[in-house]
Amino acid sequence: MTAIRVGHLYPDYLNIYADRGNIAVLARRAALRGNELRVDALGMKDAVVPGEHDLYYIGGGQDREQFLVAENLAAKAAPLVEAVTAGGAALLAVCGGYQLLGRGYRGFHGEDMPGVGLLPLETVARERRMIGDVLLECELEPGVRRTLAGFENHAGRTYLDADAEPLGRVVAGFGNDGTSGYEGCRLGRAVGTYLHGPLLPRNPWLADWLLAQALAHRAGGEPAELEPVDDALELLAHDVSAERARTRGGR
Ligand code: GLN
Repeated sequence: MTAIRVGHLYPDYLNIYADRGNIAVLARRAALRGNELRVDALGMKDAVVPGEHDLYYIGGGQDREQFLVAENLAAKAAPLVEAVTAGGAALLAVCGGYQLLGRGYRGFHGEDMPGVGLLPLETVARERRMIGDVLLECELEPGVRRTLAGFENHAGRTYLDADAEPLGRVVAGFGNDGTSGYEGCRLGRAVGTYLHGPLLPRNPWLADWLLAQALAHRAGGEPAELEPVDDALELLAHDVSAERARTRGGR
């Protein structure tokens, strides 16, 4: 049995749309493979120590909550960037958390929030919110195409640097900025996305991808394929969500 160590950043502030459900999915899917997920809350007073966690998780929030944590998070930038880039820890950032992992976010009322500077992007909120179901096509491993279904609700427009790798191509919905045709950002074992809902219950392949990356961080070496589990219900949820995105996404 391997203990997969998760650092959950600001669970008391960033948990809109039950984003915490993503952690429940990771815990369950780790247990089904005989492993254990150990989750530490990393709040205002806690330090990020490279090497202590195999996977970092940060959820979404309203501008108000983001503003409350932004400076504290930016002060943890150096160890967090080191843990993910040099250290090879995995990371999942959702919506408000995704925005704060870039260089910065200017909120709806013009408030400037510093970012971590891990992901090569920046975000500015504009008048019209981008709300609805989303469907993406992703290729995290060359030649392996998968779809990701979820829900987005953001005023922020996220602009990726020219050399940044998006998480996926928008099949239906708005995505990063409503015009680029791309959603999210991927940097090695780190993934940022606007998809809530929560994201992982209806996209089990991404949960397993993250677990495999976290296990590789723990054990060293390359990520190994996880044993398949019965995903019949999860795939049904994915298909319902995908169909909603195709018929009503991006309005
Ligand atoms: N407050 C941010 C925005 O509106 C993020 C919202 C969210 O996490 N759903 O863009």
